[in-house]
Amino acid sequence: MKSRAKIAYDELPYPTVIVVGGGFAGLEVVRGLAGQPYKVVLLDRQNHHCFQPLLYQVATASLSADSIAHPFRRTIGPMHNVAYRMADVQRVDPERKVVETNIGDLSYDYLILALGSTTNFFGNRQMERTAMQLKSISQALDIRSDVLQDLEAAISASTRDERLRALNFVIVGAGPTGVELAGALAEIRRTVVAREYREMESDMMQIVLIDSNDRVLKNFSEKSSTNAQHYLEDLGVDVRLGDRVVGGDDERIQLSDGGMLETNTVIWAAGVKGAIIPGLEADHNEQASRYEVDRTNALKHHPEIFVLGDCALMTDVEEWPRGHPQVATVAIQQGQLLVKNFVAKASGRPMESFTYRDKGSMAVIGRRKAVVDIGKYSFGGTFAWLLWMFVHVIQLVSFRNRMMVLFNWGWKYLSWKNTIRLIIRPYIRRNTLVSRPFAAQE
Ligand SMILES: Cc1cc2nc3c(=O)[nH]c(=O)nc-3n(C[C@H](O)[C@H](O)[C@H](O)COP(=O)(O)OP(=O)(O)OC[C@H]3O[C@@H](n4cnc5c(N)ncnc54)[C@H](O)[C@@H]3O)c2cc1C
Repeated sequence: MKSRAKIAYDELPYPTVIVVGGGFAGLEVVRGLAGQPYKVVLLDRQNHHCFQPLLYQVATASLSADSIAHPFRRTIGPMHNVAYRMADVQRVDPERKVVETNIGDLSYDYLILALGSTTNFFGNRQMERTAMQLKSISQALDIRSDVLQDLEAAISASTRDERLRALNFVIVGAGPTGVELAGALAEIRRTVVAREYREMESDMMQIVLIDSNDRVLKNFSEKSSTNAQHYLEDLGVDVRLGDRVVGGDDERIQLSDGGMLETNTVIWAAGVKGAIIPGLEADHNEQASRYEVDRTNALKHHPEIFVLGDCALMTDVEEWPRGHPQVATVAIQQGQLLVKNFVAKASGRPMESFTYRDKGSMAVIGRRKAVVDIGKYSFGGTFAWLLWMFVHVIQLVSFRNRMMVLFNWGWKYLSWKNTIRLIIRPYIRRNTLVSRPFAAQE
C-alpha cells in the first residue's frame, strides 16, 4: 500500500526539478525548494552528503566517517515535495529533457547540475593510476587504512629500506588539503607513533609535501603562506617547493629536480577539475573543465538547465574573470540564490544575478596552528585555530554531526591521540608489489 506522503508527492501538480548532486550546492537547493511549488527529485550516486573540508580528519583518524556525513533520506524525510533516488547520472539529453541514469531515464522541466569536481592529475597518467585521492568518504577510509597498514608494515619490515619506504608519506599539492593532511600526519608522528610504536624511532617517519609553486597555500596572503610553512616545518614536515612529480611507480616517485623518493604512499592533493557528464558539450568549457553559465547560473543554450558550484564557470564577473574559486562558500551561495530565483520565477518575478561574497580562507596545520585570511586581515595561531573549528562545526549538516565532531575534538585535545585508528576495511593497492600485512588476504 502506498503511504500518504508518496501519493501526495506523485500527485503534486508542479513542474519537476531534478537536482543532480547533493553536495553543498545541491543540498542548499533541495532544502530551499522544500515546500515551494516544485516537484523536486534529488539524484546522487552516494546515499549521503559529505562535508569535504573535514575529510582529511577521517583520513588521519581524528573523526569517524559518520560524523561528517549525513544520509539524504534523513534530510528529505520531512519534505513532502522532495524525493531522493540513489542514481549515477550518465548522460543528459537536453532535447528530450531527460537524464539517463543507471536506474533508468527521468524527465525534467528544470535540471540543476551540482556535480562537484574530480581530482585533476594534469595528465600525469602514472599518478592517476597509483596515487591516493581525497574526494570522498571511501577514499578517506582508504588513506586511513593505508597509513595504519604502513605503520604496522614498518614494524615488521625485514630490511631498513623496506621500513623507510613504508614510513615515507608523500603529499603532492600544498593547497589547504595538502597542508592540512601533512600537518595531521606530522602530529600523528609526534604523538601516536612516538608513544605507541615503541619498536621504531618515530623520526624514521617522514612526511614530504611537494608543490610546484614557490609557496604553500598559494591562494592565501603571503603572510599566511609564510606562517603555514613555518608551522609545517616546526612539526617536522619536509616542504619541497618549486618541484613536481614527473613519474614513479608503486614504490617510488621521480621528481622534476632529478630526485627520487622511495615511498609506498603518495596522496595527490594537487588540484581539481569540474565533474562533467556527456550531453551538454556546447556549454562545456573543455580547458576549464566546467560548464559555462550566465549570471543566474543558467546554461547559455539551455535556459531550463542550471549549473552550480565546482562544475560551473561564470566568467562575466569583473573580479573573477577566470571563474569563481571551487570552494564550498561559492557552491552554497549559488544554491541559495537559485532557490530565491526559482521562488521569484514561480510568482512571475525576474531572476537576480549572482554576486559572490568572499568570506575569506582558512587552513589548520595542527594544534593551535592555523591561518586565516579575512578581507585585508591575516592572522594565525590559537585564535585562528579556534575560529577554524567554530566555522567548520557550524557548517556541518546536522546537530548530531556537530556534537560528534565537538566531542571527538575535545577528546583528542585532552588525550593527545587520534583515537579512530581502526583498519576496518583493509586497503589493497592496485598493482601492488610490496608485501604488506593484509596483501595475503586478497
Ligand atoms: C579534501 C577537501 C577539502 C576541502 N576543503 C575546503 C575548505 O576547507 N573550504 C571550502 O570552502 N572548500 C573546501 N573544499 C572544496 C569544497 O568541498 C567544494 O568546493 C564543494 O564541495 C563544492 O560543492 P558542490 O556542491 O559543487 O559539489 P560537491 O559538494 O562535491 O557535491 C557533488 C555531489 O554530486 C554527486 N555526483 C557527482 N557526479 C554525479 C553523477 N554523475 N551522478 C550522481 N551524482 C553525482 C557526488 O556524489 C556529490 O555528492 C574541499 C574539498 C576537498 C575535496
